[in-house]
Amino acid sequence: MSDIRDYDVVVVGGGPAGSTTAALLGKNGRNVLLLEREKFPRYHIGESMITGVIPTLEQLGLVDELDKRFQPKYGISLVWGLDAEPWRASFDQTGRYDHSWHVVRSEFDELLLNTARGFGVQVEEQAHVTAVLSDDNGKVTGVTYRRGGETHHVTARFVVDASGQARAISRKLTEVSWQEDLRNVAIWNYFTPYEPLSDGRQGGDILVESVRTGGWIWGIPVTEDNVSLGHVLPAAMVAEATAQGLSHQDVFDRAVANSVVAKTMIAKGAPVDQLHTARDWSHVCKSFHGPGWLSVGDAAGFIDPLFSQGVWLGTSGASMAARALEAALKNPADTERALDRYELVYRVLYDEFLSFIRFFYDPNKLREIYLERAQQDVWHPDGNLKVGFITLISGIKALPNITGFDPLATDLPKTVRM
Ligand SMILES: Cc1cc2nc3c(=O)[nH]c(=O)nc-3n(C[C@H](O)[C@H](O)[C@H](O)COP(=O)(O)OP(=O)(O)OC[C@H]3O[C@@H](n4cnc5c(N)ncnc54)[C@H](O)[C@@H]3O)c2cc1C
Repeated sequence: MSDIRDYDVVVVGGGPAGSTTAALLGKNGRNVLLLEREKFPRYHIGESMITGVIPTLEQLGLVDELDKRFQPKYGISLVWGLDAEPWRASFDQTGRYDHSWHVVRSEFDELLLNTARGFGVQVEEQAHVTAVLSDDNGKVTGVTYRRGGETHHVTARFVVDASGQARAISRKLTEVSWQEDLRNVAIWNYFTPYEPLSDGRQGGDILVESVRTGGWIWGIPVTEDNVSLGHVLPAAMVAEATAQGLSHQDVFDRAVANSVVAKTMIAKGAPVDQLHTARDWSHVCKSFHGPGWLSVGDAAGFIDPLFSQGVWLGTSGASMAARALEAALKNPADTERALDRYELVYRVLYDEFLSFIRFFYDPNKLREIYLERAQQDVWHPDGNLKVGFITLISGIKALPNITGFDPLATDLPKTVRM
């Protein structure tokens, strides 16, 4: 056991939410320790970004680097709804950024972690947080972690849980609600070569296609040679298939065979990896903060990846969390107010996306019905229904709440009609 070290903030988890929170606090000169269980680069799912991530990545000075390293994503191509015709919406219709990226997450996450290091954050990899330290009043004061066969204790004025779906800290401190209607499973693999959706900009779109056997498929052109193809479906359907003697591979192959567009992308391709399977069950924690702690990213809440919003939600939450923590560190009397405000605004982001995804999840509506609902949500006066849709699902609609986040504000956050 080593001596106890003390920090302004200890961040648990070095995914996009943890690295961003740590980097922004480090940029302010705060004394931050980030503990990450794995050795980076490490594999992670979640490869397609929406343009709403850009303002936060701009704060980290990463946009040019992302342009150099990753594939541009110009929009979303859909096969969804009662009308059989494929349709698309492009980011440039929002009047803001015209593209985001599809990223190799091992590289993207390593870039973010190194950015945190560059801002003076002390990063320890292969550091597995195992326990929370608290005082007699239950206030969180630090964590215990294992590294290289040794146990360490560190204290901090705040502990941030950014440990993703592990919820390493928050599972001990708050309850979680599971969204039963989005109790899904994801099955995916990578294929090379693949047929892009088109020769032009649409070739950079994510494909989102509902399949008549149930669930939907994503097609993400992660690199020039490699497409990520995944199938999301209710866990109950997977259980039913298993009871009939079908494997996950059978379930995946059945969905691809029943698709219209996805199957054409990999018609000449071969899988380059083992089949991956993950639980994809949306959830949200009852509290996003408590005395001495705060959670961000998947550790606070996770929504089905239908519109690729996970990294946006996590990094946007991180940008607000860093500001709230900064206010609390500057003036401890503001702590509760700042962290309450963080939770309030973060929940608005979460609820808006969840609400629209729930509405959209039923593939048996006419396209106009989805678009009209999005148009109402963003109160968009433009006659082009797709503008409302893409403004909502790119995260651009929510930007004023994120970039304008003031932890000490008292007005109501801007919200959509629910
Ligand atoms: C099937 C599927 C598809 C998805 N597709 C997309 C997509 O296309 N686009 C998108 O934006 N999002 C997508 N997502 C969501 C996205 O993966 C997550 O929202 C995102 O990774 C959340 O970032 P995070 O930093 O909160 O957590 P993570 O990225 O999971 O990072 C958490 C980190 O914490 C570390 N950790 C865990 N426990 C401990 C511990 N005890 N001690 C120390 N470290 C610990 C982990 O090793 C990990 O590195 C998808 C998710 C799923 C399940």
